[in-house]
Amino acid sequence: MTSVIHTRAELAAAVAAVPGEVAVVMTMGALHEGHRTLMRTARARAPFVLVTIFVNPLQFGPNEDFEKYPRTLDADVAACAAEGVAVVFAPSRDEMYPGGAPQITMDAGPVGGILEGASRPGHFAGMLTVVQKLLMLTRADVAYFGEKDYQQLALIRRLVRDLELAVDIVGVPTVREPDGLAMSSRNRYLSPADRSAALALSRALRLGAASTDAESALATATKILAEEPAVRVDYLALTAPDLGPPPASGPARLLVAARVGGTRLIDNVPLTLAPSDRLPDPRPRQRA
Ligand code: AMP
Repeated sequence: MTSVIHTRAELAAAVAAVPGEVAVVMTMGALHEGHRTLMRTARARAPFVLVTIFVNPLQFGPNEDFEKYPRTLDADVAACAAEGVAVVFAPSRDEMYPGGAPQITMDAGPVGGILEGASRPGHFAGMLTVVQKLLMLTRADVAYFGEKDYQQLALIRRLVRDLELAVDIVGVPTVREPDGLAMSSRNRYLSPADRSAALALSRALRLGAASTDAESALATATKILAEEPAVRVDYLALTAPDLGPPPASGPARLLVAARVGGTRLIDNVPLTLAPSDRLPDPRPRQRA
């Protein structure tokens, strides 16, 4: 039986009774197969999985979709129950921020200001603040996050390292629709025409990542995105796995953000660069 709780007192009582590890999956609800894969991965390691559902106002900008973000608690609880989740913690805004907006918050550092952070000022500070609060409230031993939000995952790893948090962070590969579109709660905003245009993102990343050369990976992806006029690219970037400048060779990441209709979508893939004869250019590679 999955129990659904809304207060921090109920949460404290629920986690105090757990004899083993507490595994946590943090979400904003509107759960889909991507979230369910996180739950399933968590269940494979620990019998006690706790899912948090909270649309965090702190991480939305003034012109973003906080008000209209989908809220589907009943269906979400059913999904959690089907995945064997022990507890769903769905707090109200006042329960999370009893003193109003917090005065002490996280600084997301330099990586918090690039890519998503450049387009969404304050987003990562708000995200890290709620993640830190939820880690404390849930007393998580292990927390699962999707690679879909790759910069978020990188920043959470950095938070844990820099502030010595006693929690294990596990990244889970992106779950996609059969046609390649990365699953997202925001996909439901897409009209059929937008949805088909949005496939250019995953196609560009897939074909770009088939290249082992940085220049041609970016050129291939740029070309595919340019062929789809309904896709307005915010950034396309090739980075190191920690989002620093791309290496001359070895593991790297290709990331994209774009607007399709009124919806902002993000996606990313891993790739491996082969050593080339040319001297590496140490500047981060980015094309808008
Ligand atoms: P959200 O509810 O969008 O804040 O996402 C909650 C968690 O689910 C985050 O760790 C996301 O990275 C993860 N997630 C969302 N979509 C996917 C996906 N398609 N594949 C894997 N993880 C995902």
